[in-house]
Amino acid sequence: MGIVGSFVKILEFLNPIEHLGEKKYSIKFPLIGTILAAIILQIYFQVVLRNPAAVGIYAIFVFVALIIYFSFREGTKGGLTATVVTICYYFYLIWDLKYSGRQLASGIQTTIVLGILYFLIAWIIGWLKQTIDDLIERETFEKRRLQTVIEQLPVGIIITNSKGQVVEVNKKLEEVLGTKLSIGYQVDHERFLQTKKIGKVMGGFQSPILKALTSGKSTIRKEYVIERPAGKVRFLEISVEPIQNNEKKVIAAAAIISDITSQKELEIRKDDFVNIASHELKTPITSMKLYIDSLMVRIKLYKDEKANKSIKNIKIQTERLQKLVNDLLDVSRLQTGKLTFENEPFRLDSLVKETIESFQDNSKNRILLIRSTPILVVGDKFRIYQVLTNLLTNAIKYSQGKGDIIVNVKKSLGKALVSVQDFGIGVSKLEQKKIFEKLYQVSDDTEKTFPGFGMGLYISSEIINRHKGNIWVESKKGKGSTFYFTLPLEKV
Ligand code: ADP
Repeated sequence: MGIVGSFVKILEFLNPIEHLGEKKYSIKFPLIGTILAAIILQIYFQVVLRNPAAVGIYAIFVFVALIIYFSFREGTKGGLTATVVTICYYFYLIWDLKYSGRQLASGIQTTIVLGILYFLIAWIIGWLKQTIDDLIERETFEKRRLQTVIEQLPVGIIITNSKGQVVEVNKKLEEVLGTKLSIGYQVDHERFLQTKKIGKVMGGFQSPILKALTSGKSTIRKEYVIERPAGKVRFLEISVEPIQNNEKKVIAAAAIISDITSQKELEIRKDDFVNIASHELKTPITSMKLYIDSLMVRIKLYKDEKANKSIKNIKIQTERLQKLVNDLLDVSRLQTGKLTFENEPFRLDSLVKETIESFQDNSKNRILLIRSTPILVVGDKFRIYQVLTNLLTNAIKYSQGKGDIIVNVKKSLGKALVSVQDFGIGVSKLEQKKIFEKLYQVSDDTEKTFPGFGMGLYISSEIINRHKGNIWVESKKGKGSTFYFTLPLEKV
């Protein structure tokens, strides 16, 4: 170690700030320090200045400074040690200067008053230092605890400061990203994870971390696709939460990144399977239907009533099967984004009328069309027909011939509005939002008898949403439901 090194070491040893958080309080250093100071003062005034009587006033300042220093360096123990040495030295001075009479009395009195003062200073500053040490220790412990938890997590973690610079990461992050993200790395605007070092993102997006820092908005389980440097595609799921201070200012952001590639690949395989299976099922069902139709003609010819009834039932079941397969295919296409839509103008009122007519014969309920004015909309006629069919099938299914079904189509608030009302079992408030979710079915005791897969309303809501319309239900349990949907009008 060179001279500079030793000098720095000595400065570090003397600097009380360097020792904050250390909870080792010694009395050796203050004891030796104050005794040394007293000896130096004595030598200076007796030998150099040859004026031992002048030492008193200087001693007050020097020892006040030493007591403050040692209390801040070694806590109350150190401060009190320095105080005791100081008072002893003052008594030594009284003896050494051979005070007597009034001088002696005033010397003792001053020493006692100063002693009390020094004691208070040592005690307050020492206590302050020990409190700071406790706080630092607690914070260090908290930090270590957090670090231990972060390291154990099975997901990648990034914590940044308010400027978007990385301040903390865990080991798992490297595995998830495929590259190391170093402390101090600046999360790039619009390019988070996009740099060459980490891998190219397919499709630009705003960094969710910067979004959290600039707008205070969190990102919840958003999926991203990145390409690793080696060209391997990975699916990541990212959640980011802004961290605010007491004044609600965003001061940091915490991101959780998990690799969902295997889960995603399984999902894709499952979707592919459903897609292929539905396709394979479609063909035999279609030819079955053709054979059934030709059989029906022949059975009618021979007037065999029993066979006629059976074949009608076979037809109904086959149609059900066909609908199920079609719905499965649609759900799978929606999932993979393969469902495409035509975009042509058509008369919504005519479509509603035709759909109702196709239902009249097979329904126990009367279906009434209230009002029908010409309404032109733009979209996929077949898909809207599918929505209407779903709503009417449900209305019939969930009212079991009880009451009429009322359909209304009109213009409202600059949009086309269709409603389908039934007086059946109804949907409780709690279930009203959920029934539009994928594969959701109300599992109420009273409804156990209704077959279905919960795909119809999910497909319908996706179709309407993609037409930039809305779909919702108003209902009272036991009293019936009204399903509504809107579509944008064609702009003339
Ligand atoms: P499915 O009818 O095949 O079960 P849907 O997606 O069409 O699937 O409907 C989801 C759920 O919403 C149904 O299980 C049913 O509980 C409820 N539901 C739909 N339409 C009605 C209606 N008109 N009246 C009462 N409940 C309904």
